[in-house]
Amino acid sequence: MFNGLGSFVIASLALSACVHVDADFDVQLNDPPPLEWSIVIHGGAGVITRSAMTPETEAAYTAALTELMMTGSDMLSEGAEGLDVVETLINSMEDNPLFNAGRGAVMTEDGGFSLDSSIMVGDTLDAGAVAGLSNVRHPISAARKAMEKSPHVMLAGEGADKFAAEQGLEIVDPSFFFTQRRWDSLMRALDRRGVEAPANRFGNPGEDSASLSLPDDRKYGTVGVVVMDKTGNIVAGTSTGGTTAKRWGRVGDSPIIGAGTYAKSGVCGVSSTGTGEYFIRLSIAYAICNRVELLDESAQKAADNVIHEQLTGLQGDGGVIVLGPTGEPAWSFNTAGMYRAFATSKGDSVVEIYEFDEAVFD
Ligand code: ASP
Repeated sequence: MFNGLGSFVIASLALSACVHVDADFDVQLNDPPPLEWSIVIHGGAGVITRSAMTPETEAAYTAALTELMMTGSDMLSEGAEGLDVVETLINSMEDNPLFNAGRGAVMTEDGGFSLDSSIMVGDTLDAGAVAGLSNVRHPISAARKAMEKSPHVMLAGEGADKFAAEQGLEIVDPSFFFTQRRWDSLMRALDRRGVEAPANRFGNPGEDSASLSLPDDRKYGTVGVVVMDKTGNIVAGTSTGGTTAKRWGRVGDSPIIGAGTYAKSGVCGVSSTGTGEYFIRLSIAYAICNRVELLDESAQKAADNVIHEQLTGLQGDGGVIVLGPTGEPAWSFNTAGMYRAFATSKGDSVVEIYEFDEAVFD
């Protein structure tokens, strides 16, 4: 199931029940021990096909996801708090131009950046979100600050940038986010729209991912991480540049609690990626957790219902990563691929890109 070409299998699943022999030599089947911790990561979904991907590009994504998964696993096994793990990993993805978040974010119609992010802590239902940031290096950290240091859940636009600066977060010139690859995508999108291109305010970015062949135009590179830490707390976070050539202050699902991100410990955690307009209308992250809680569905079944029935039914596209009540990982998407990885305290770990590598946990 996990051995498709292009998938990178770190270790195989070991989920079978163990056999216990007691003092009277009775053989009993015991339930497998519960997970101590687990982590699931996505780097965006979309038209990600092997034919559009060079071996170098595939290797770059695989290496990035593998490193993130290993860093997260190390932190969780050492007892780190879920909130810190989610922030650390998403900070790293925000700095990596392979992904559509922070540096490497897609560009707005007027040639700028508008970054969205959210985070939610499952044991308290605390949540924070920011929308339309233009100069904060790490939007997920701004979402965390909004949760911890403001009386509000969501901050937007100039006020959110100002709040992040007041909180001591790193402020950068927007040129920091610029990559040639995203500029080229914007030019193609504006050409298709028949709109005149804005001036390039940021110039040559120098070293970035432009040398990689990256299938961009129908791919959503939002990033997300969901973890269950050793206390059983489920934490979820999402960060994005949104969609290429967005205009009018458009905000997608990523900063919306219940659409792009949701976490409730003992129930479920979700991070979404895809065309945000559909994810908002279906409250996708909350809908999945609701099915787990009220219908007693597995995380996989609930995710498949919402993605393959509801999202597909509305002709929306994208995917989700999910952790179930006891941290069991799942994912579901209706696109050709989704950059994704999971690991658990049992030693299972998988990194996959394409659709037919899709794992099923029931
Ligand atoms: N969901 C994001 C948005 O609509 C896009 C993405 O997932 O890449 O803003």
